[in-house]
Amino acid sequence: MSKAVVSTLYDSDVFRMACRQFDQAADAINLPEEIRDRTKYPRRCIAVSLPVKRDNGSVTVFEGYRVQHNISTGPSKGGVRFHESVTLGEVGALAMWMSWKCSLVGLPYGGAKGGVIVNPRELSATELEHLSRRYMQELIGFVGPQLDIPAPDVGTNEQIMAWMMDTYSNHVGYICPGVVTGKPIAVGGSQGRREATGAGVAFLVGKYLEDMKLPISKSTVAIQGFGNVGSETALALSAMGAKIVAISDYTGAIYNPAGVDLRKALAYLQSERVLKDFDGGDAVSNEQLLELECTVLIPAALERVIHQDNAPKLKCRLLAEAANGPTTNAADRIIEDRGDIEIIPDVLCNSGGVIVSYFEWLQNQQSFYWDRDEVIRKLHAILEKAKESVEYQKRKFKFSRRLAALTLGIGRVAEAKQKRGLFP
Ligand code: NAD
Repeated sequence: MSKAVVSTLYDSDVFRMACRQFDQAADAINLPEEIRDRTKYPRRCIAVSLPVKRDNGSVTVFEGYRVQHNISTGPSKGGVRFHESVTLGEVGALAMWMSWKCSLVGLPYGGAKGGVIVNPRELSATELEHLSRRYMQELIGFVGPQLDIPAPDVGTNEQIMAWMMDTYSNHVGYICPGVVTGKPIAVGGSQGRREATGAGVAFLVGKYLEDMKLPISKSTVAIQGFGNVGSETALALSAMGAKIVAISDYTGAIYNPAGVDLRKALAYLQSERVLKDFDGGDAVSNEQLLELECTVLIPAALERVIHQDNAPKLKCRLLAEAANGPTTNAADRIIEDRGDIEIIPDVLCNSGGVIVSYFEWLQNQQSFYWDRDEVIRKLHAILEKAKESVEYQKRKFKFSRRLAALTLGIGRVAEAKQKRGLFP
């Protein structure tokens, strides 16, 4: 019989937040006590030191992690984050959310996440390559197409995935594209993977706006974070007829009630690398962006940006969580009490990324590649089914949408653990 253990390894605000979500879901479905802790806590973590030769000849040692939360339902799956504020607790929470997400949408995967404490903007391309290769080198033995499959997340991209895949392949002695996903098409990437997370967010936003009887052509959208997920979400929603009134990156936000020119913003970002001083609207702060009047608010950057202080001030109708963990437990309660904002919870909202990663992995296993239409059609089918199952669970048990999504994901992982026994 397990008793609630206080985790010290991962202890942090964000890990406690993920644990509280788990506890609420476990209580809601009466998850047996003896299965709780081993479903909740990560299976294992690997901490690595990464010495990197700098361009000036010196050596810097970076630190990184890989947390494999659940390997009971398949090889573990999850992105690698390169960011200066990465902690073991954050990686643990992100790995936990990957477990629930993969189970919720019915993928044959467990959950994992990786992170390196580094500001990638401060490294040259050569230094970044050395760091990416060294990270993969340190994880050989713990990753692989049937073991744990990394992918891009904040601060990492297709090129980094190509370096990681190449390092692994050189080790095993043959090309092994299925060891990571989110690769360039030239080395076994999938059509549609780059835009998959944003395309999935936009698809679900469209469906929920329909349910709310809000025409997308009259909808305004504010997006925090204009990286892979934020920019692809913006482009997809704009193509669907919505007006993107605000975008941001770590340097600040741009607000334009007439609509931000996305192509111009992307071109500016390409040349300047930051949105700062982009003249396509008024400069506002990232905090102000979250409180703008809009139909849809989309956090697409980091965790815990919607908290008890700004939750009462949100002026959106739909909160679409493209980022992982953007809403704290306290903010969740406030939004639920307000009752005027619908939430698409992260584990559903941004699942398009891992769904197309799964397609990429499948194509790699079979060395048989699909066209973009097939990828997007299959992506939409899985998202639609997941949305329906969340809505059914929500109605049946009178749960919030987050609780509905989490109970489905957690319930499936727990059932697999129960059926298999104590080891996995
Ligand atoms: P990215 O590195 O491509 O972009 C991150 C964006 O957030 C950048 O515009 C960056 O400037 C901005 N940002 C960073 N710190 C910020 C801050 N303090 N305030 C405001 N903006 C800040 O990363 P991404 O892949 O687009 O990931 C964004 C979010 O989506 C993360 O929560 C990630 O876990 C989640 N996610 C990503 C994927 C994927 O396929 N890449 C899939 C599912 C979920």
